[in-house]
Amino acid sequence: MGMESADDRFDRQVRFAPLGEVGQTRISRAQLTLVGCGALGGVLAQTLVRAGVGTLIVVDRDVVEPTNLPRQVLFDEAHAREGVPKVEAALETLERIGGPTRIVPHARHFDATNIRELLAQSDLVLDGTDNLETRYLINDFCVSEDLPWIYAGVVGGAGLVLGIRPGKGACLRCLFPDPPAPGTLPTCDSAGVILPAVGAVASMAAGIAMRWLAAPETQEDPPATLLELDAWNGTVRAIQTPRDPDCPACGRRDFPFLERSDSREPVLLCGRNAVQLRPTTRVPDLNALAENLPGGARALVRTAALVRFDLDELRLTIFRDGRALIEGTQDPKRARALFDRVLSS
Ligand SMILES: [Zn+2]
Repeated sequence: MGMESADDRFDRQVRFAPLGEVGQTRISRAQLTLVGCGALGGVLAQTLVRAGVGTLIVVDRDVVEPTNLPRQVLFDEAHAREGVPKVEAALETLERIGGPTRIVPHARHFDATNIRELLAQSDLVLDGTDNLETRYLINDFCVSEDLPWIYAGVVGGAGLVLGIRPGKGACLRCLFPDPPAPGTLPTCDSAGVILPAVGAVASMAAGIAMRWLAAPETQEDPPATLLELDAWNGTVRAIQTPRDPDCPACGRRDFPFLERSDSREPVLLCGRNAVQLRPTTRVPDLNALAENLPGGARALVRTAALVRFDLDELRLTIFRDGRALIEGTQDPKRARALFDRVLSS
């Protein structure tokens, strides 16, 4: 071995009979949107780029920090030191892997106002998010548009996967009609998380994705099954999940999450002592801002994508789209007051 040309890159996938030439060609023409490129999203992105998907749109609002490194496989210490936006760090790593995939990064907050733009042209949507609110939004959009998506979630040493093909199997709201009240479920913040669980869940989700892209018309799918993978105890559970005829989303076709344009509200980021804000009035000019930092600010980073500085014991990162990430607090009022002060300086 070792003498293979670029044309042979996908030889071992093509030799895998369920894929074959036809399946590989379909994969190479597919467009996917990945929402979130942290832990689950990193493994998903790497697997699908290595598999040779046509286009991968990656959306993520966060920056790389040192606590990401034990499980977020696309990032390294240099990314964390510089606090690079995750989509930019992901792009760098994925481009080093190479191959035919066109990667389209979006350093943006994903919500009801931009979901159509980011998902509508894709064949499949992958869940690399860290919060249920976003998953209910994705479910509403995908069910309303008859677009397949794969739910994946992980906390601690275990996680869940459910491939959702609207009309063919259960959707997220067939299983969980309403999001649980905030704080009632464990999160990565409270319970931690380990890479083996992330890898198991994301790999299973990536396998379902490749299967659906390679053989979209297959009638031989097993009934929709919620998989619970526990990488710590070494157990797997398959839970049969019939469709609920009275499901608010795929039954009654009621899509309330698409109507919520609460993107102006502050967001507490999962696993972070940080608040995300959007400007209430205008998108700041990064150049002007970088040159007129408020008194007492210590400048840290200035790139085309962001300005970062320390002020009042907090770290502010202001992105091109007008978002701000305020690290060092979980108090939205304090974060908002500081951001308003910066914008008015
Ligand atoms: Zn449903």
